[in-house]
Amino acid sequence: MAKKAIKKFKVVREEAAKRVEKILPILKKLYPGATVALKFGNPLELLIATILSAQCTDKRVNMITPALFAKYKSAQDWAKAKLEIIENDIRSTGFYHNKAVSIKGASQTIIEKFKGRVPETMDELVTLPGVGRKTANCVLGNAFGQPAIMCDTHVIRLSRRLQLSENPDPVKLEFDLAEIIPKKDWTVFCHLLILHGRNVCAARKPDCGRCAISKHCPSAFKPELW
Ligand code: SF4
Repeated sequence: MAKKAIKKFKVVREEAAKRVEKILPILKKLYPGATVALKFGNPLELLIATILSAQCTDKRVNMITPALFAKYKSAQDWAKAKLEIIENDIRSTGFYHNKAVSIKGASQTIIEKFKGRVPETMDELVTLPGVGRKTANCVLGNAFGQPAIMCDTHVIRLSRRLQLSENPDPVKLEFDLAEIIPKKDWTVFCHLLILHGRNVCAARKPDCGRCAISKHCPSAFKPELW
């Protein structure tokens, strides 16, 4: 199938900020208590679960993490485990070789550079093997309670349909969103977009007729903009 052309439009930041102001309370009411779907008990577990969630559903990750976290309780446990054993334990999440390399490498770095504790800053987190800004933001926002913008596939798609940014690149999008979303709402805004993307504004066929924010959405009922 031919790749869909990226729609071009120009975002006026002030207008995008006003749109955020209007849709935030509606989405907060629609999805009270919106939070990360991955199950975790501490920052290390969330870091591992987030690495596992790449190209995999949160549901599938949540199916294997209880047994995984009972077996591997610390960065030391992951670091000393044989790669093939980790691969076998995480196989069902897909891309298990790369994920095992990332998990083992990140755990080794956490021990060597951060005294066995997951670091709490973006600059330090992205020094861990296999950890990019998306994973780092997920850990900062959900395990450490810091305002963080997680640009996953839903956040990228909805931000463009809502014309909050014209940038499909996740890092540029992250910085655009940071300018127009109140900082205290960064993390929750992403959870709200993820939930709305899963429930209503699907990739192939957004359900604009059932969408609570349609009157504020420049792409509502306009397939040419999806
Ligand atoms: S109106 Fe349609 S395109 Fe806009 S956010 Fe709602 S479902 Fe998505």
